[in-house]
Amino acid sequence: MQKQITEANLRLLIDSLILKRQRVIGPRQSGSMVLYEPLSSASDLVLTEQPRRSVKEAFFPVCEDLLEYSKQGQQVELADIEPDRFPETVIFGVRPCDAAAVPVLDSVFSWDYKDHFYLKRREKTTIIGLACNTADDSCFCTAVGLSPDNPKGTDLMLTPLTGGGCLAESHSEKGEAFLITWKDRFSELDGTKPLPLAQPAATPFDLKKIKNWLDNHFEDPVWDSIAVRCVGCGACAFVCPACHCFDIIDEGSEKAGKRRKFWDACGFSKFTNHASGHNPRNLQPKRYRNRIMHKFKYYDDKFGQTLCTGCGRCIRICPVGIDIAGVLEEIEQQDDSVK
Ligand code: SF4
Ligand code: SF4
Repeated sequence: MQKQITEANLRLLIDSLILKRQRVIGPRQSGSMVLYEPLSSASDLVLTEQPRRSVKEAFFPVCEDLLEYSKQGQQVELADIEPDRFPETVIFGVRPCDAAAVPVLDSVFSWDYKDHFYLKRREKTTIIGLACNTADDSCFCTAVGLSPDNPKGTDLMLTPLTGGGCLAESHSEKGEAFLITWKDRFSELDGTKPLPLAQPAATPFDLKKIKNWLDNHFEDPVWDSIAVRCVGCGACAFVCPACHCFDIIDEGSEKAGKRRKFWDACGFSKFTNHASGHNPRNLQPKRYRNRIMHKFKYYDDKFGQTLCTGCGRCIRICPVGIDIAGVLEEIEQQDDSVK
């Protein structure tokens, strides 16, 4: 279903949702950066820059409680946190590179073990995407098979129109239901043209060729030269819409505490440290190799998908200037014959 919405009506719609006590998330100023966070009114919405961190934290928070425990004598009490309490949520202004990562994450969180915390949030959330009209030097969605108006992962996609307002196109039952529920805020198409889309400069990667090289070059001197500068800060994983490593830790005392789930990163030096003290990824190039292998080989082997949407965040944030698009270019240029 296709409709149109003015900017004023979009803001009225957001305020109406908030008045109805729905949780509304969108890009907003949070301290020195823009993040996807709950909005207290439509005036909080900032649509002029890409949020520093991705939308994944709406489903997979930086840190969350899984259960609480307490002990009285020999009696241990456990209190589950119920995912059913998560509120109905609408997320506005989700960029296509963020939205596209959500169905990719669905695969891992609904695989052999069903992560009810993630899945309940997914069920209760409507994702409203926003096509991009500008790109910077780090954006490369078009090089990994996406585009500045790709609707993958969205329920409803907004595309800015010349003269203001947006085209609104549903891409799921949730999106269609949203257009019907809020029909008074939308109007029929009046033929206004969309604004020109962003044009990321990157040329498409041959992801099959890259995968083929990765299949056959677990050991290769290229890894040392690529990763020699990596300091293992983990920033690239934390800003990435598709990275999903986590750890589970019990916090508290012997008498009472909480079991909590935290983001983790395969770039951290202790990520694979064994209780024995042995660490199979004892050097940074081995850790960086895992980052690339996981994104472009292991996840493809397991789920037939790539763990990168070309959002460019890891390029913008890396303190030593490691550029994953440049790394892919370098791999693409390698001789892919089996050694
Ligand atoms: S942000 Fe850069 S330095 Fe930090 S772990 Fe990632 S690649 Fe390494
Ligand atoms: S690997 Fe980098 S460019 Fe790719 S989705 Fe993650 S943060 Fe974005």
